[in-house]
Amino acid sequence: MERTIGSSLRKQKTGNLELVEVIDLDGRKFPPRLKSLLKKIGEAADEFGVNVYLVGGLPRDILLGQPNLDVDIVVEGDGIAFAKQFSRQERGEVKPHKQFQTAIVVLPRGFKIDVATARTERYEKPGALPTVEVSGIKDDLYRRDFTINSIAIQLNRRCYGKVIDYFGGHQDLKAGIIRVLHQLSFVDDPMRTIRAVRFEQRYGFNIEQKTERLLREAIQAGLLDKVSSERIGKEITLILKEKDPLPAVKRLSELGILGAIHPQLRADRQTEVLFFELGKIFSSTAVPRHLHRWVLYLLALLYPLSPEVRKQVAERLALSKKVRDCVSKLETVEEKIRLLDDPSLKPSRVYFSLRNLPTEVLLLMAARAKPISNRIFLYLEKLKTARTEISGEELKQIGIPSGPIFQKILDMVLAARLDGEVDSKQEELKLAEEIWREANR
Ligand code: ATP
Repeated sequence: MERTIGSSLRKQKTGNLELVEVIDLDGRKFPPRLKSLLKKIGEAADEFGVNVYLVGGLPRDILLGQPNLDVDIVVEGDGIAFAKQFSRQERGEVKPHKQFQTAIVVLPRGFKIDVATARTERYEKPGALPTVEVSGIKDDLYRRDFTINSIAIQLNRRCYGKVIDYFGGHQDLKAGIIRVLHQLSFVDDPMRTIRAVRFEQRYGFNIEQKTERLLREAIQAGLLDKVSSERIGKEITLILKEKDPLPAVKRLSELGILGAIHPQLRADRQTEVLFFELGKIFSSTAVPRHLHRWVLYLLALLYPLSPEVRKQVAERLALSKKVRDCVSKLETVEEKIRLLDDPSLKPSRVYFSLRNLPTEVLLLMAARAKPISNRIFLYLEKLKTARTEISGEELKQIGIPSGPIFQKILDMVLAARLDGEVDSKQEELKLAEEIWREANR
């Protein structure tokens, strides 16, 4: 990693003898359409008469040689006016946010650019949103979470690729260190405790010693309690969306962050085994592509808890209704596992006992109890989509009056089909008639 960073650096001396690094953006390995976009932004800024900088995750990942397509820029000047001008020039769409002096530009080829006016922030209370004032790039970088995220790369033509690094972020990237910019950083925004873990584990870095002490102090002081559920939920979700979230979840637990979210929340041996089994399931082909893997990891994290505690955590994380529904269905998992453990269970029983469970919960069951996982996959791959050939229409035609009885008969016919007792439309109709006759006897 260090070699990648060092190799394309040119160092220049400025008037005041400060070392300035300029990287050859054109020579870097990232998509050509991103390169040409960055060039265009710089040229447009020159025309508009403002300084423009690439900030946030992209400069960090460019220096690390990691893929990233999130274009965040900061303008020293009127960010919204620049966004409007650039969007007009590129025939994009612009969504300004006057209150924050920011705008989003969406370009026809799908690129999205976050444009901000350089600003400084003042935190009146821990966890509360800051008050914001227009400023220069240095102040804008100073309000950021970690040194590695406070690097900017200038895009104006005359300084294209100039690395603006006031806080030693580039050095920390090389050394693999997560470091806050000042000692009140976690007090200003306790969310940064979770973010520190995310970046540490994603890149295999270490949270610097003093930063870790400040982090632990912030957690012990209960500062996370002051953060809104929506923000906590969002950061935890981002952790669970990481490629391999287990190390980060274990680290959150070890630092007391999970315990600060709920005293009973932790990553223990059971969590580890479940995450590991889920990882194996994800590499199997049977898993639907659209599945939200992070939801499964969340379910694994909540699984060892009581239904009541699960509910409390779900509230603290402000989970969506759909995810909360999955969480509440965890309650039935143990009972279903016991039921499915009977080798003589007919396919129709498997079908009817699983049909009200979301795929996420089913896969968690498969991870939890390997001996029954083949049953779960049988359900997902075959039984779930099985249908009768007859419908309510045919039942009407043979004289059965419409009503709730329709569904009952169709379910019984479906059960017979799943168990291989009927195999054609004719046989299904015959069975439906028999059931109807029997019911009227
Ligand atoms: P990722 O690669 O996961 O998207 P990112 O660094 O791009 O990481 P974002 O959440 O998109 O993360 O934030 C963009 C930038 O905004 C960060 O790099 C950082 O400079 C700044 N930032 C985001 N959240 C905070 C925060 N809570 N406190 C301070 N700065 C923040």
